[in-house]
Amino acid sequence: MKTSKLKLHLIGGARPNFIKIAPLLKLLDKNKNFETTFVNTGQHYNNKLYDKILDDLGLRLPDINLNARSSSSNAQFSKIMSRYEKYINKNTPDLVIVFGDVNSTLATALTAKKMGIKIAHVEAGLRCYDDCLPEEINRRLTDSISDYYFIPTRNEEKNLRRENIKKNIFFVGNIMVDSLKLILKKNQNFKVNFQKFGLITLHRPENVDYKKNLLQIIEKIEEISKTIALVFPIHPRTKKSLERFKLLKKLNSIKNLKLYESFGYHRFLMYLNKSQLIITDSGGVQEESTFLGIPCFTLRKNTERPITISDGTNCLVNVTNVVNKVKKVKKKKVKIEKWDGQTANRIEIILEKIQKCDFQRYLF
Ligand code: UDP
Repeated sequence: MKTSKLKLHLIGGARPNFIKIAPLLKLLDKNKNFETTFVNTGQHYNNKLYDKILDDLGLRLPDINLNARSSSSNAQFSKIMSRYEKYINKNTPDLVIVFGDVNSTLATALTAKKMGIKIAHVEAGLRCYDDCLPEEINRRLTDSISDYYFIPTRNEEKNLRRENIKKNIFFVGNIMVDSLKLILKKNQNFKVNFQKFGLITLHRPENVDYKKNLLQIIEKIEEISKTIALVFPIHPRTKKSLERFKLLKKLNSIKNLKLYESFGYHRFLMYLNKSQLIITDSGGVQEESTFLGIPCFTLRKNTERPITISDGTNCLVNVTNVVNKVKKVKKKKVKIEKWDGQTANRIEIILEKIQKCDFQRYLF
């Protein structure tokens, strides 16, 4: 049978997307069964979050940037959808591969699906069952219209089945670990300026968008800094809030705390790897710290990554108990099934099968 290249769009828009795309795109670009297009929606346009990350990841430049900058989430959806539709009309893929749970994930999946194009979702099936988190809506809706599901742990299969999704679920492991392993291998001599320290990252709306909540967190940071030095690379969203609420001076006055602009990916991982503990509200960081065995204190009510608690180093905390919890830290060796740096290879093999079986009857 004559085979034809499968035309793929890989969609990125935010920092964690690029980290997940990098290992897969590198493989697919070299595979003669596929024709790849790397689409950047432009969701994260702050250069702290975008510029350096391609470099750190050794990721090539996107083929198209939709420049979908917007102040509100809904305006961003409509911009991404209308611009991506126009692009699809010029360059129509057979399959769109979306990653994670950001607005770009759902907006592009929905656009393509309505135009009759199949969708593959990498990091499918994650659930925290709390619609107050905008990402939860993105995850659930993206899964409801996807055709192929690449899941990081066995748990996600149960979540998908609960929603009556039973076909084309592939347990491939965690693709973020592929990127993480590569960076660690390349940069073993990186020097970190501190001996013993804890790391902090914060950017979730419920922690940083309200003055009262942010102030309470700063007070806890101050208490914790009395027992361990702290390093805080500040996310642009958090920096804006600190300025708006006039809290930057207070944060700056904490003696044992060192503030930085948001770190590049490579630098961040080097710091994380050398830290004694991390306080975070990020999704990806819960997984990275589990992989590295670093105690992680997640300032959230729930997590869509429960394996980081059951089998890893993660623990959910709030402003009332964080100081006490952080006192009991212990690094730990962790091994999670298929978090081994081979996830992109597994996805590539499955895509080859999809190309041979599912798509040939449409193409010829
Ligand atoms: N990260 C980074 N610089 C920082 C903080 C985090 O590069 O200063 C990386 C981190 O290694 C992780 C990713 O950003 O892989 C997580 O992205 P983010 O917290 O923005 O999104 P989430 O994972 O919560 O969706």
